[in-house]
Parts: sequence; C-alpha cells; structure tokens
Amino acid sequence: MDSALPKFILSQDYELFFHKSGSIEKCLFEPCTALLNFADRHDSKITFFVDAGMLRCMERHARLEHSARRVLDRVRKHVTSLADAGHEIALHVHPHWEDTQWLDNDWQFAGTRYKIDMFSLEETDRIFRDYAACLAELSGCMPTAYRAGGFCVEPFDQIRAVLSDLGIFIDSSVLPGALLRDPEKGFDFRHVPNRESWTFQDSPTSHEVDGEFLEIPISAQRMPFFYYWERALDRVGASNISTHFGDGSSKRIGRAEIARRLLGLSRVAELSIDDAKAEHLLRFANLHSDRQLWQVMGHPKLLSRRSLQTLDQFMERVGLRRFDTITAVAGEIRADHGATV
Ligand SMILES: [Zn+2]
Repeated sequence: MDSALPKFILSQDYELFFHKSGSIEKCLFEPCTALLNFADRHDSKITFFVDAGMLRCMERHARLEHSARRVLDRVRKHVTSLADAGHEIALHVHPHWEDTQWLDNDWQFAGTRYKIDMFSLEETDRIFRDYAACLAELSGCMPTAYRAGGFCVEPFDQIRAVLSDLGIFIDSSVLPGALLRDPEKGFDFRHVPNRESWTFQDSPTSHEVDGEFLEIPISAQRMPFFYYWERALDRVGASNISTHFGDGSSKRIGRAEIARRLLGLSRVAELSIDDAKAEHLLRFANLHSDRQLWQVMGHPKLLSRRSLQTLDQFMERVGLRRFDTITAVAGEIRADHGATV
C-alpha cells in the first residue's frame, strides 16, 4: 500500500446469528464469495475476525452428531480457503458458544453467557488460548488481531495477559463516541482518544505512549436522527426490504437502549457495509474526506449485493484504491511513527 494514500481496512466479523443462527451457506459461504470477488477486483485483502467459539462448539457436537460433523468440516475448510487466498484470519471471541447446545437440529442460545466478565479468569485464559489455537490450526499462523464480540472489550484487565502472551497486539473493538446501554452487552466509548489509532496498556479507551497494544478503531459515524425510526417502522410495517444474504436473526437489544435510540440519544454507529448501514457510507465520505485511516467493517451474514456497489462508490469518492489487512496496516503505522504511536 502506498504510504502517501489514506490507509483503508475492510474487516468482517465471520459468524452466524445469535437468535436464530441461520445456515452456513447463507451466513458465511455465499456472502464471502461475493466479498472475495470484490477484494480480487481491487487487488486487496480482507481481515476476517473469525468466531472461533462457533468452531469449537461445532467440534464438541461433531463427536456425537453426524450432521454437525459435516457442518464443521465445511466451515473449517472454508476458513482455511480464506487464509490460503491471502486474507487475514483474526480472533473474534463470542464466549456464549461455551454454553450453547445443539438441540432439534438448531443452536440453542437461551441462557448463555454473552460477555467475558461472566467467566472466571481461568476460564477466560483457557478460552482465548483455545480459540487462538483453533484459528492457527486452520490458517497456518497465530492471529495477531482481536475484536471482542459485541465490542465488549472491557474489562480489558481480564484479557491483557493472555493476549500479550499469545502475541495478539492489535485490538479493533473500539467504536469512538458510541455508547450501548444494555444489561447484557453494553459498552462505553464516549471518551476515547481523538486519534485515528493509538497505543495502550491498561484499556483500549486510553492512549499510553509506550503501551504494548495498538488500537485500530472501527471508523464511526453519527446516524441521521430518523435512522432508527425508519428501521423500527420497517419492522412494524413488514416493509423491510433488506436484501442481506443471511437467513437467521439477531439477538434483541433491551428496551432501554431501543428507547435511547428512538430519542436520538444513541446515534453513533460503525461505518459498515452491512445492508442496513451501507448507504450512509457515502454521506460520511463527503464529510470526512481528509481522514488518513479508515476502517469499514461488516458481517458476511448482513452483506448484500447493494452493499458492495456502495462500497465501490465510497472508495471512489474518498480516493481509496485498495484495502489491506489490519496487521499489514498496523505494521505501516508502527513504521510511520516508530515507538511513539
Ligand atoms: Zn461478533
């Protein structure tokens, strides 16, 4: 990547849905084929934050269930094929898979623990080592970047030592300015450094010059006031024209957070190529064309054909010719700024 041009990362959280899981074909394989074609056209590489807990849970059930064995084999091969094509396999941790059961031919998520602080330190250590090893086995190298499930990266204290030990030095869980008030999966990123990336030690929400970790946040945007009203009305009126690939459904957020969104109190969202958010990329491109580092994220399950057309327009508008993996960009940031990032 030419260091004179803005750096651009396209990251994807590779996972099923967390209410009705959906199928591996619709949530993972089909959208990834579209993503890989897009990446090839731009001579670019994607960072896939792979939900390794899903793979480990599939392994547990594969020992007993023939159908689960077939699903596991196909997902494992698919992750390996992404790595073989030169894309990055990074660590995404959704610990709820530790408690998930396969019943009546479907994943049962009721009563599972969503956040890492619902697990002991010993359990956390085991989960991170086990999940990282799972990805290393499929991709041929240890992951160097991490994204917390649901952006729930705190309490960072609980994972600092194990990440350091595993050599995972990049975090990409922060969405600057965002606040999610939910009893089960909240976060507070209202007071993070006003920088495009930063080093840290104690918490990814504060910059420390000699910190061993590098935060590369997801680019954030302020959604229009009526965004969540439109989404709510779409649902009520069954006029939801979303055309995303995935065939499952998401975990609901709590009523307090829904109320905050409808009151316009919770309008910061990620720059995303998920079908429901992609159109806002173009508005944001006009407002912030002077940025030097962009990270647009998404989920294969929520991708649509329209998302990729919009991403093409966005790249053209900002003057981004290609995108690179988060670890490659982290290397450039370190080279650009030495130890003083
Ligand atoms: Zn996730």
